[in-house]
Amino acid sequence: MLKFLCKIGLLVLALAVGAVWLVVLRLKDVPAPLLVAYGLLLAGSAAGLLWPGMLGPLSTRRRVLVFLGVPAGLSTLGLYLAVVYYIADLPVLLALAAATCLAWAAATFLRGRQAAGDRGAPQTRRAFLTAGAGLVLGAASGLSAGQVERHRREVLARSERQAAVRATGARRPILDDAVRVFPLHAGDTIVTYGQFYGGLDGWEGLNGYLRTLVDKAQIAVPVYAYLIDHPRHGLMLVDTGVNWEQAHDHDGYYNHNQMVSRLLTQRDEYRLTPEQDLRVRLARLGYDAKEITTVFLTHVHDDHAGGLRHLPQATVVLDRRDWEHGTIYPYSFDLVRNNLSFPAFGSGAFGPFPAAQDHFGDGSVILVPTSGHSPGHMCVLLRVDGGNVLFTGDTLYTLPHLAIDQVRQMTIGGADTARQLEAARRIQTLLASDADTVPLFAHDNTRYQSDLVASAFAQGAPGEAGLRRLRAHMETVLTPGWRLRPGHTPRFVAPTSGAPVGRVEFR
Ligand SMILES: [Zn+2]
Repeated sequence: MLKFLCKIGLLVLALAVGAVWLVVLRLKDVPAPLLVAYGLLLAGSAAGLLWPGMLGPLSTRRRVLVFLGVPAGLSTLGLYLAVVYYIADLPVLLALAAATCLAWAAATFLRGRQAAGDRGAPQTRRAFLTAGAGLVLGAASGLSAGQVERHRREVLARSERQAAVRATGARRPILDDAVRVFPLHAGDTIVTYGQFYGGLDGWEGLNGYLRTLVDKAQIAVPVYAYLIDHPRHGLMLVDTGVNWEQAHDHDGYYNHNQMVSRLLTQRDEYRLTPEQDLRVRLARLGYDAKEITTVFLTHVHDDHAGGLRHLPQATVVLDRRDWEHGTIYPYSFDLVRNNLSFPAFGSGAFGPFPAAQDHFGDGSVILVPTSGHSPGHMCVLLRVDGGNVLFTGDTLYTLPHLAIDQVRQMTIGGADTARQLEAARRIQTLLASDADTVPLFAHDNTRYQSDLVASAFAQGAPGEAGLRRLRAHMETVLTPGWRLRPGHTPRFVAPTSGAPVGRVEFR
């Protein structure tokens, strides 16, 4: 009886491990039918190993191993090679194979020595053959390492990118007393529709997180950073977008970060054209990345921190709680980790926010803590001529997200969700109480960003009239009670055949 229960326990454990593995493979876009067949094979193999007799009186543990275990093992390795890992890991896999061969050879050799006389000879021969194979594999591992490194360098040094980075700015910076803000479209990210818009449709908490891992209803959303050209405080950025490695050498980027994200993210998670490179975006406006003195980082997530690679001289201002408890991507932060500055949030309350930091002490930049999306998320309020702009970071992804009782992004835990909602409501209160403040979002994929923000900030300084136009548009989308008006509710539209991702329709 106890033995039976133990076997059931082992089976459950094996199936759980298998299920996790299948989720990982699904993340890497292995087709579902293949996964089902593979899952059955894994389940059959586990059950067969535990109950060797169940396939008929003739089957033995060994036979099950041969008929189910070996194919399952080999197909796992095959899928692993083909899908999860690719050329960059070849040296590692070859080295592992070499080590296995050498260990096997040593074991065989020792057994051969123990066996007396003639019976030991074939084993010794086999040991030498296996050791030879191990040495060949080891040499191949060493040789392929250089090859792989060259391949990666080629990917990162694409000529069209180099050309874009070298091209000089298309215009000269304007020198007057106006505070200027330029939205920088610094890449796109592929997300599940539910993670982005489905926070009220069964995408809550852990369940939502698991769904983002397997759901393939995906959309591409823009990643925005914002350049601030300030007459007194110089050139500053709010967030920094995605870097080239993230988009074009995704697995390599995550290798630098030594985290499981590599397994749990899609390889085409980010898109970045040469023109969207942060340095190129700045150059097209007549600026140079080297001139940026301060970066306000709303939070440490990689789609906001990637561009820090180009800003080793900048002071990076972020909430200490995000640095200590957030998900840090070391490669993004490598060059700036000695330039971090943590606001004390000691300037007293600011409107509906109980704490704030007046960054320069002159009211020009106010930082407000808005934890929820991440442990130390913050929003940035900038005084401009004619009003204020509020950089929401990821507290609200888009304009329709202001209707938080109808449209909500996903947060993971209960406390996070509560804090996120609290922060979102404070933003609502601030906007309601101050008609001269306009929100600027990090991922808005609506007309608000593509038409209205783009034209209002085309020259950087929207002025009172420009800000008023943005607020007027907001009123056509949202009621005073923060509900969406008809025609503005997001809906997922499945991709047409051939398109990699779906799109969002508003109706
Ligand atoms: Zn983001």
